[in-house]
Amino acid sequence: MTVSPYRELGLRPAVNALGIYTDVGGSRLSPKVWARMEAANRHFVAFPELLDRTGEVVAARLGTEAARVTPGASAGIAMATAACMAGTEGRLIERLPDTDGMRSTILIQRRHRYKYDRMVRMAGARIAELGNVNGTDVDDLVEAVDERTAAVFFPAHLEEVQGTVGLEKAAEIAHAHGLPVIVDAAYLNYPVERMGSYCRRGADLAIFSAKYFGGPNAGGFVCGRADLIRAVAAVDFTRFEAGKHLQFGRPFKLDRQIVIGVVAALEEWLDMDHALRFASYFRLVSVIAEQLKDLDRVTTRPMSFTMDEQLVDEPVNCLTIRSADDAASGVVGRLAAGDPSILVHAVDGLIVVDVECMDEDEAALVGRRLREELLASVSG
Ligand SMILES: *Cc1c(COP(=O)(O)O)cnc(C)c1O
Repeated sequence: MTVSPYRELGLRPAVNALGIYTDVGGSRLSPKVWARMEAANRHFVAFPELLDRTGEVVAARLGTEAARVTPGASAGIAMATAACMAGTEGRLIERLPDTDGMRSTILIQRRHRYKYDRMVRMAGARIAELGNVNGTDVDDLVEAVDERTAAVFFPAHLEEVQGTVGLEKAAEIAHAHGLPVIVDAAYLNYPVERMGSYCRRGADLAIFSAKYFGGPNAGGFVCGRADLIRAVAAVDFTRFEAGKHLQFGRPFKLDRQIVIGVVAALEEWLDMDHALRFASYFRLVSVIAEQLKDLDRVTTRPMSFTMDEQLVDEPVNCLTIRSADDAASGVVGRLAAGDPSILVHAVDGLIVVDVECMDEDEAALVGRRLREELLASVSG
């Protein structure tokens, strides 16, 4: 067996029973995706051509005009904003984040504010927040547009929030003023048809994170209108060394292995039998539940832990565990402190074990460790 590089560094390897989180490394690459990345490592390639060609492949698969791989969705937001401000004009691009004389205001609805919207400011844009605590209406949006407005930014996961203008309507207003709509759809990748739907519903650029579809933690892409994707290409890191202008996007550098990994993971995701994926989650949840079923004062329930960290009934991807002895936070702490460290959530007094990033061996181990710790907390 190979020695864990983490152990060699004096770090404890962790079993990820949290789900997909950047801070523990995103998701686990499939053997097929890893093999494609390994193959990519064997040869070199002209990077601008690699990004052009993989962008065509992503766009064809999603049915959008164009696409471009980026080092994650956060980078995608910053680059999309830069593209909407500077276009393909090299002299403007190299001035960013200085936006003097450029359209540089990004409109965001009050109840659409969320932690990643700050990425638009990286390229020098200013956020104009529309509406008030009671929400934002169509008039707020119409009145906010002026000659400095560069785009409307729309986080797709907040689409259903009360007191917001919907995507179609926001796009209609933006387009009437010649303005693009940038949509952060980072994790909205299932059902898979959803990925291409934002551009059909009015987004001019839609942004996805590869961490959520089994790709590299540091991968993602922007897709949408061909002219805007050309502008995203114009701000990206390629041609900085040899081109005429010094691109804003130089820190958003990619590895060719990552680019190939993003596309391979996307194709695998789009072609996957998702019923089998959910069946495998259910099986892992059952393996864990089986080990806890005879414990007194402990009840378990298969549930779904959503991307926005809510517990709902379906589709099952986690086991929730309730202990009448109020043991949850102690158990969670002791599992994390063990070796290997086992990372699980504590949510409202429940232990939540998300199996999306786990395999069979890990499920067996987690079940065993949970059993030990729950038993110890009863007697202790
Ligand atoms: C994770 C996430 C991002 C950032 O994606 P990265 O690829 O990690 O940069 C952006 N928006 C939302 C909603 C996310 O969940």
